[in-house]
Amino acid sequence: MKKIAILGSTGSIGKQTLDVLNNLNDEFEVYSLSTYSDLEIIIDQIKKFKPRLANAVHKETYQKLEKIAREEGFSTEITYGTDGLLDLVRMDEIDIVVNAVVGAAGLLPGLEALEHKKRLCSANKESLVIGGNLMRNMLKKGGELIPIDSEHSALLQASLSGRYPEIKNLILTASGGPFWGTGVDFSKVSIEETLAHPNWSMGKKISVDSATMMNKGLEVIEARWLFDIQPENIKVLIHPESIVHSIVEFVDNSQIAQLSVPDMKLPIQYALTYPERMEGLCQSLDLSKISELHFHEPDHKRFPCLRLAYEALHKGGSFPVVLNAANEAAVQLFLEKRINLARIPEIVERVLERHTHVSNPSIDTILQIDHNVKREVIELNKLEV
Ligand code: NAD
Ligand code: MG
Repeated sequence: MKKIAILGSTGSIGKQTLDVLNNLNDEFEVYSLSTYSDLEIIIDQIKKFKPRLANAVHKETYQKLEKIAREEGFSTEITYGTDGLLDLVRMDEIDIVVNAVVGAAGLLPGLEALEHKKRLCSANKESLVIGGNLMRNMLKKGGELIPIDSEHSALLQASLSGRYPEIKNLILTASGGPFWGTGVDFSKVSIEETLAHPNWSMGKKISVDSATMMNKGLEVIEARWLFDIQPENIKVLIHPESIVHSIVEFVDNSQIAQLSVPDMKLPIQYALTYPERMEGLCQSLDLSKISELHFHEPDHKRFPCLRLAYEALHKGGSFPVVLNAANEAAVQLFLEKRINLARIPEIVERVLERHTHVSNPSIDTILQIDHNVKREVIELNKLEV
């Protein structure tokens, strides 16, 4: 029986991971759960899965949860804060860590999991964007990194058709988000319109990233580190139906793609059971019912975030850290209705232009830059309002 720690179990990926595990039952044990501040959801999850441990990073949430656990006699031990989260990752009992935390906060637990030679099933793309090089180095000591992001899961699955040096290009598909092909004015769209993704139901941050296409930019950087491939060999193809999840092109120009209905439960399960496949909850795909699939070149003018991500990746070093932090802070401002959607790429570009390059940043430097850039974005916005 494999014991699993789910970091960010109360979010979109975390909940779907529990659905997958509930269906696989006998082979896996939900050993620990974690949240930032979703009190009600984690209480329900604790009651249902009876994990050994549960962690809350937010102080008041921890205090409330600890009190309820004591009063109601839960067998689950409640731990606090980022330190508690890291303790939970490194426990000897844990075989698999699912990183479903959103944002740069996923970096430390991701690195910790690899350092302790766990299988890290990572949905958290931001950790690879800002610390991909560190994660690759950590992987040399042991441990395993299996992507949950659907495109990267598809690339992993397709890449098994050849050997690593035979890979020529990775072609990431992108739905284009809710505004692809619409011609809408990005400065006028509402939060609700932005969060209404046509094919996927996801957390708020990644939904905004999908609308600006920063999500695909982050995924290009994620692919660079997961597959150790040069930026010029990573392409993006708009595919509005989200059926072809990505494609590997080999040196003989053969392209191998992975197809399925859009359902994150498939890549989540694949990461857990890799290299094996098991029956799961994802429905079968009937291509005759879909009948048409479409593919287009990305539009870098209308979606500048994708261009900014490629530029940050080419410059390397600390630039992807700045790109990610500026984006996280700008997305937060948008969700708080303090800026419109069109401002996100403008802010990210402005902050990138002001940044002084640091090559091979250490973990401390990465976290410092992340912190400083997020503050800079807030200050910049105050000045401009
Ligand atoms: P979400 O917002 O629904 O959930 C985030 C989870 O992280 C929650 O449990 C939250 O409590 C926890 N969390 C937030 N801040 C934290 C912190 N500082 N410390 C510890 N825990 C914290 O997000 P999501 O949509 O599930 O996405 C999670 C990650 O997976 C993101 O990196 C996203 O890009 C990636 N991803 C998501 C999807 C999807 O379909 N939702 C698909 C591919 C990749
Ligand atoms: Mg994806």
